[in-house]
Amino acid sequence: MTTALYPGSFDPATMGHLDIATRAAAIFDKIVVGVYDAPAKNVLFTTEERVALFAEALHGTPNVEVKSFSGLTVDFARSVNAQVIVRGLRAISDFELEMQMALLNRKMVPSLEVMCFMTSLEYSFLSSSIVKEIVSLGGSIDGMVSDNIAKALKEKYRKLKESASIPRYLNS
Ligand code: ADP
Repeated sequence: MTTALYPGSFDPATMGHLDIATRAAAIFDKIVVGVYDAPAKNVLFTTEERVALFAEALHGTPNVEVKSFSGLTVDFARSVNAQVIVRGLRAISDFELEMQMALLNRKMVPSLEVMCFMTSLEYSFLSSSIVKEIVSLGGSIDGMVSDNIAKALKEKYRKLKESASIPRYLNS
C-alpha cells in the first residue's frame, strides 16, 4: 500500500490544493493531507479550522485523511507511514523552493520520494493569499475555493471588520 503525504499551510485550501489532493488520491492508495500547526507565516484560520475546512471540502474522496502536525515534515511522513511527499507546482517561482525542500527532505530521509504535481491551468494563478486579499477587499472568489471555504472566509472577515482590526494576511 502506497501512502503519500501532502503537506502545507492550507490557510485556507483553494481549488488548486483540492485539485492536487484529489489527483494524488487517484494515484496513491492513501493520501494524508498534513496541515502545518505552526507555519512560518501568519495565518488567518486556526489549525483546527484549516483541518476542518479542507476535510469538509474533500468530502467524497474516501482515501484522503486530513491531520495537523508540528515538527519536521519528514518525521510526520514517517509517523503516518508515507513513502512519498506530494507538492504542487504553479510556476517557475515555486520550483526553486520546492527543489530545495525536496533535496533537504531526501537528505534527511533518503527513502522518502518527493513528487510534484503540475497545477491545472485553471488554478495556476490561485494562492491562499490572493483569495484572502480578494475577500478582504469585497471581491468575488467564485470558483476559487469550495463553498464551505468561501463561507468561512466571508464570516472571518466580517468578524474581523466588526472588531475593527483587519490584519493583512498576505504573506502566504
Ligand atoms: P506552503 O506553506 O507549504 O507553501 P501552501 O498551503 O501554500 O503551503 O501550499 C501547499 C502546496 O500546494 C505547495 O506545494 C504549493 O506549491 C501547492 N499549491 C498551492 N496553490 C496551488 C495551486 N493553485 N495549484 C497547484 N499547487 C498549489
